[in-house]
Amino acid sequence: MRQPLRQLRRGPAPALRSAVECELGRALQRGQFRLVYQPILRLGGGGPPLFEALLRWEHPRLGAVSPESFIAMAEENGQILYIGDWVFRTAAAECLRLRRLTGQALRLSVNVSPLQLASRASLQLWIQHLQDIGLPAQALTLEITERVMSQQPRRVAEHLQLLAEAGFRIALDDFGSGYSNLAMLGQFQLDGLKLDRSLTRCLARSQRHRTITSSIVELAHQLQMQVVAEGVEEADDASITRALGCDFGQGYWFARPLSAQQVEQRLAAAA
Ligand code: C2E
Ligand code: MG
Ligand code: MG
Repeated sequence: MRQPLRQLRRGPAPALRSAVECELGRALQRGQFRLVYQPILRLGGGGPPLFEALLRWEHPRLGAVSPESFIAMAEENGQILYIGDWVFRTAAAECLRLRRLTGQALRLSVNVSPLQLASRASLQLWIQHLQDIGLPAQALTLEITERVMSQQPRRVAEHLQLLAEAGFRIALDDFGSGYSNLAMLGQFQLDGLKLDRSLTRCLARSQRHRTITSSIVELAHQLQMQVVAEGVEEADDASITRALGCDFGQGYWFARPLSAQQVEQRLAAAA
């Protein structure tokens, strides 16, 4: 069953798809999801610890199913609303727990699918939830992608405004892949830009990619946005992204995604 799962993104056989979809519908209730946390390092050093929360689905028979396979499916059938809500609340609870445990102003990034931004009422529930548990919204960055443009842009802009006013940071994920929609940078108030791995991985060997990256960094800085280079796998990529002005780096060169317990150990060791 593991091998055919790779085909899910390309369009799996209908029988496999409906089997996985059915299992996905039960995964939340059966406690098969967990979050891992990948460090995002400030390239100039210092600052509060930052991590991105990444969803993992461990199925007893299918094994570890990649988010790239099942998130798209959950987005298509609407399950992402329940799954995304679980991700948000779990990340918020973990952020609060680690803040209290370590006394550090830890911040977490949470990936948000376009459909999750469609309902104002759900976003208000998130804001209320943080007030109830006592976590400042400033502790969370919501990572969106240009796919939010598939929703009504005016409504998305209003909802992002609501979130920004509540204190959330908003970052545009995977920039440099897809259409890299520049209109979005004008239309929405964004705090951060995450450069996709398809750009970062070419930096060491391509002057053209270095020029594109430094231009994007300059544009982002002029718009008061901070830049994270994603998918930094090599020492060279780390030093080049720093030299090109990126503010943060994320990738296997720095650290793989960690369990909550490993995060706790890492923070204790750094204290
Ligand atoms: P993303 O938000 O761009 O997250 C970064 C992805 O790159 C993660 O894959 C991470 O494990 C991987 N990565 C980090 N460093 C490196 C590196 O140096 N090299 C390479 N090759 N990969 C690296 P992951 O965890 O498989 O997630 C894939 C995508 O699934 C995410 O991309 C995000 O779009 C989506 N996703 C993950 N968790 C969630 C979630 O809770 N909600 C939603 N809506 N989407 C999620
Ligand atoms: Mg992300
Ligand atoms: Mg990304």
